[in-house]
Amino acid sequence: MKTDIEIAHSVSMKPIASIAEKLGIEFDDLELYGKYKAKIPLRFIDKEKVKQHKLILVSAISPTPAGEGKTTVSIGLAQAMNRQNYQTTVVLREPSLGPVFGIKGGATGGGWSQVLPMEDINLHFTGDFSAIEKAHNLLAALIDNNLQNKQYSLGIDPRTVEWKRVMDMNDRALRQMILGLGGTSSGVPRETGFDITAASEIMAILCLADDFEDLKKRLGNIFIGFTYSGKPVYARDLKAQGAMTALLKDAIKPNLVQTIEGTPAIIHGGPFANIAQGTNSIIATRMGLSLSDYVVTEAGFGFDLGAEKFIDIKCRYGDLQPSAVVLVATVRALKYHGGAPLDSLKEENLEALQKGFANLEKHIENMLQFKACPVVAINRFTSDTDAEINLIVEKCKSMGVDVSPIDVWAKGGEGALDLADIVAGTCERCENQITPLYDWNWDVPTKIETVAKRIYGAEAIDFSSQAKKDLKKIEKLGLDKLPVCIAKTQKSLSDNPALLGRPKDFVVTVRNIEIASGAGFVIPITGNIMRMPGLPAKPAAENIDIDNEGNITGLF
Ligand code: ADP
Ligand code: MG
Repeated sequence: MKTDIEIAHSVSMKPIASIAEKLGIEFDDLELYGKYKAKIPLRFIDKEKVKQHKLILVSAISPTPAGEGKTTVSIGLAQAMNRQNYQTTVVLREPSLGPVFGIKGGATGGGWSQVLPMEDINLHFTGDFSAIEKAHNLLAALIDNNLQNKQYSLGIDPRTVEWKRVMDMNDRALRQMILGLGGTSSGVPRETGFDITAASEIMAILCLADDFEDLKKRLGNIFIGFTYSGKPVYARDLKAQGAMTALLKDAIKPNLVQTIEGTPAIIHGGPFANIAQGTNSIIATRMGLSLSDYVVTEAGFGFDLGAEKFIDIKCRYGDLQPSAVVLVATVRALKYHGGAPLDSLKEENLEALQKGFANLEKHIENMLQFKACPVVAINRFTSDTDAEINLIVEKCKSMGVDVSPIDVWAKGGEGALDLADIVAGTCERCENQITPLYDWNWDVPTKIETVAKRIYGAEAIDFSSQAKKDLKKIEKLGLDKLPVCIAKTQKSLSDNPALLGRPKDFVVTVRNIEIASGAGFVIPITGNIMRMPGLPAKPAAENIDIDNEGNITGLF
């Protein structure tokens, strides 16, 4: 069987100008990054068209090590929509570079549903992540410079500074450190560390910004810490926002590429789905909707995390309205949720599947809580049996839910023609129906409780003493009307990663609540959230190579 990179290399890409032509963009308007990548100027965003055209959100059941395939399905569905003459663009997040060298597995789809050129997209792409990293680290440098410099000192208490540095590499040795060693001319010693670039608040900010003005305002609103006299300090107090925005001059513009079947793909921004909103930029979504009748987009992790934040945070800030939601499920993952061990997932197991269906059922119920018309896509793997697929189909049908088995990995768009028609029908039937779960004006504990009880299925919420202190701080700073971006394990509907399926009678514990006042949300933390991943003992980097002609091998 061919690997993803072999399949990707077996098709010849079209020049990016001919993809842009499909969207009505002329060659002269493109900002080219080589032959197959281009940035689209922001003036192509058309507010009227954003309102008229249809947004389709792809989400999934709770992720398992078996893999669900949201990105693959998003790409495959967009290809299928175009085959059925629904003019469609797929709009996705840009993958982080660091994890590419850790565990094998890309974030550009798979099989016959990929975005190209996949090596570029998975590695440096158009340099947006580097720009975000620079903007982030500029603020860090300005903070440490202010600590150093007595004449212009804001009196920042270094122990309260929460702004770290970032780098797009899996490097666990950088998680915690002391900087500023080396005497009086080398800074003020303080404890800090590095996060991976995707975890930067700047990433979340860029992905929620409307334009340069809004970006600048949000960057200025970043909360840094307190002065010795207890006054809050924001990035604007360091006059950082102008220079930071200047560094993001090109990163703010969405990137145009293509899928394996020549469907237009816009890839822009890649925030985490637990500590941030987990979906591509508002600008990219608006761009897609401005240029085509339908946009298929993905929200990270399961529906409980990615889709909830998509609707309650991104859509509210972006004034966006999804018309349909597709929930991806796999036979393998549901069997895993039903207790089948990872190494047995290739064998038919109707009993485990029946049990594991409870996870899908809860996510369907959650879709209904947002008043979405649920559509379930069963992403077929070669080992799935007909009896297993039929069991999921029957169970969905008995709940009155539209369901379609698809095979976009092996067949590309051809494998989801039925789903494309169902989704287009749903867009007509269920337009303007989806509503947010909570009101931003509610107090923070009520907002958290609403998500935890209604979406996760929690019995009760427990706030640690630190979380209670944080609540007071948030109120004092006047940030309690911001939405809540709950950081929770993606592996379970609960805050305990070991509880698979549909956990019941559990209590969600909020350990602390962080502030992302630039992005415009607060982050209740309910578990250990990894912001600087490490590499495995045998990293994928060992297998990646390039020949003398510049052909990369071993990347997926
Ligand atoms: P997600 O977006 O949910 O994280 P991806 O679409 O990135 O998932 O898929 C994860 C991995 O699983 C990728 O390597 C992809 O190639 C593979 N994959 C997805 N769907 C299938 C399938 N139907 N058969 C085989 N492999 C698949
Ligand atoms: Mg994905």
